[in-house]
Amino acid sequence: MRRAGLDPNKAESKVKFGRHGEKLEKGKCATTLCFGCDARCDETFECAQCLEIYRARAKKVAFDAWERAFFCSCKCYIANWDEHRRRHGPSTAGPTKMDGAVHEFEAPPGLGALWHGSDLRRLEFEECAPMMY
Ligand SMILES: [Zn+2]
Ligand SMILES: [Zn+2]
Repeated sequence: MRRAGLDPNKAESKVKFGRHGEKLEKGKCATTLCFGCDARCDETFECAQCLEIYRARAKKVAFDAWERAFFCSCKCYIANWDEHRRRHGPSTAGPTKMDGAVHEFEAPPGLGALWHGSDLRRLEFEECAPMMY
């Protein structure tokens, strides 16, 4: 199980950083880099499951370090699926100084999918089977 919360013994910080050390604002960095190949990309393709996890966590965790995952293309998402799907496992947050509770989040069900940010539709990929937990 992934532990994404803060160490309760450390001072509380409202500043969160993404995987490349950039500040996170609403789960996003100022520069969008593809989660698959690290190339610069726009926000057209976003992992729908990471977005679901982000929303579920944002409801309960005030200052979360969960980063939303954008991809440069569907191809890149599919090519990196085996690695990326590990991110979709159950996760926890907390406890922190402000909130003593440990919040648990389930793995979103279903096939890997991208949310198309301008067409506003979900693209599901048969080749992206979820991990079994
Ligand atoms: Zn890519
Ligand atoms: Zn994802």
